[in-house]
Amino acid sequence: MGKGFQPQDRFAGGAQYIGGRLRHGTSGCHQDVVDPATGSTVLRYELAGTDDVDAAVAAAREAFPGWSGLTPAERSEALHRFAAVLAERAEDLAYAESLQCGKPVKLSAGFDVPGTVDNASFFAGAARHLEGKAAAEYSGDHTSCVRREALGVIGSIAPWNYPLQMAAWKILPAVAAGNTIVLKPAEITPLTSLMFAQAATEAGIPDGVINIVSGAGRDAGEHLVSHPDVVMTSFTGSTAVGKRVAALATATVKRLHLELGGKAPFLVFDDADLDAAVNGAVAGALINTGQDCTAATRAYVQRPLYDAFVRGVAALMETVRLGDPFEPSTDLGPLISRQQRDRVAGFVDRARAYATVVTGGEAPGGELAAGAYYLPTLITGAAQDSEVVTSEIFGPVLVVLPFDTDDEGIRLANDTPYGLAASAWSTGLYRANRATRELRAGCVWINDHIPIISEMPHGGYRASGFGKDMSSYSFEEYTQVKHVMYDNTAVARKDWHRTVFGDR
Ligand code: NAD
Repeated sequence: MGKGFQPQDRFAGGAQYIGGRLRHGTSGCHQDVVDPATGSTVLRYELAGTDDVDAAVAAAREAFPGWSGLTPAERSEALHRFAAVLAERAEDLAYAESLQCGKPVKLSAGFDVPGTVDNASFFAGAARHLEGKAAAEYSGDHTSCVRREALGVIGSIAPWNYPLQMAAWKILPAVAAGNTIVLKPAEITPLTSLMFAQAATEAGIPDGVINIVSGAGRDAGEHLVSHPDVVMTSFTGSTAVGKRVAALATATVKRLHLELGGKAPFLVFDDADLDAAVNGAVAGALINTGQDCTAATRAYVQRPLYDAFVRGVAALMETVRLGDPFEPSTDLGPLISRQQRDRVAGFVDRARAYATVVTGGEAPGGELAAGAYYLPTLITGAAQDSEVVTSEIFGPVLVVLPFDTDDEGIRLANDTPYGLAASAWSTGLYRANRATRELRAGCVWINDHIPIISEMPHGGYRASGFGKDMSSYSFEEYTQVKHVMYDNTAVARKDWHRTVFGDR
């Protein structure tokens, strides 16, 4: 599995990708990319400074007329080639993603990479379905039509939890619609975003269409958001940073797309299939070591199933195998860093004062002690307004709370400022259907939790942000519509001129 891939060789030319080639950053500061499973540095690179952001935006600006001027069929053809190159590079991409994130290779090779290839295929097709509304003579004297147009240079900022998929989600709809883009990945995980951009060049996508600046949020990130030649900011990350980004983008009146944090409820009614709910809760809470904005974090279980659910989840969590991400048998990798591991441990340790840690609640020792590992953790007895129920922990921690009536369950599930994802578990059609209507989130699953698909939109309500990634809905973010009106009368004095000239 891609072990011949050496980041220091691959990125000897630098970790900035501008105008179709690698460059060294000019900020004067260095950044280490660390393998969180071992704590060892796999790449040290020069961070992007503001000059690098300016160069990337200039490259994207130069590429825009040519790229947006292609026919949809030509852009589609380039994206089909891109999907094929990504598929050819699957092993290296999965290896690099596991190396920089600590993801089990069964997750990177079985989800991140195939999802990215499928996204590229989807947008290759969708590029040919961009349309405005049909023409008609609404005023009688004119023919009106709507043109859908690309925006220009997009500035995107991505988080570290799914670096490859986040790059794909930001870049693909933007370029399929004819825009060019500068993406800033999280500075601790730049590898697969750079490889993604290199694959685009290999597929024949012109230089400057896709640029990557690997830089710190406060410097490169803020400069990209504030840049006058960038027309839109598309940001995925925490709600706190999202607020800062929104304020900066407003100063230059940019279009804004925000994909922010989450605290997804997992609502189990008393007619649910208990075994399915237990398996779904453990998988939904532990995927990507819980560093998933849609992860199951708050399970509300109707009283008759509560004890059995807690027993089942605890027993299943205790079977989960932590280990080397490159071992095919490993279920759970480390967190992204020791700092993130300590943050997660802080939430759990504080919870001991007011709740019960049923299983987990510590870092494993032995061979795993050097990595940022943390045991799958189940917490019960926490109050609805306690920190572990209200805050995004972003780790392998599930909190379970009981409820009595259906009304109460739905109210508790909705009792959060976030609204990214939710699931409801029931074998009753009407109960499940009610949950789909009343749960306030951008995605509601019934009897499952986590799956996503290229054809369907992903995006939040309320403090989880606004705008959609994936699917043809994302084109609403990355295009603008123009009303074009043709006069049909061919007369000098139009009927509406009465409002100026009177009856003369
Ligand atoms: P983060 O907000 O700390 O960082 C996200 C990105 O913003 C990084 O690239 C970072 O360098 C950059 N950044 C930081 N400060 C900045 C600033 N002042 N100006 C501009 N850019 C800045 O988030 P993270 O810790 O990397 O990722 C975890 C968060 O991302 C979680 O809250 C998670 O829920 C969220 N997330 C949301 C989605 C979604 O689809 N809604 C998907 C994945 C992750």
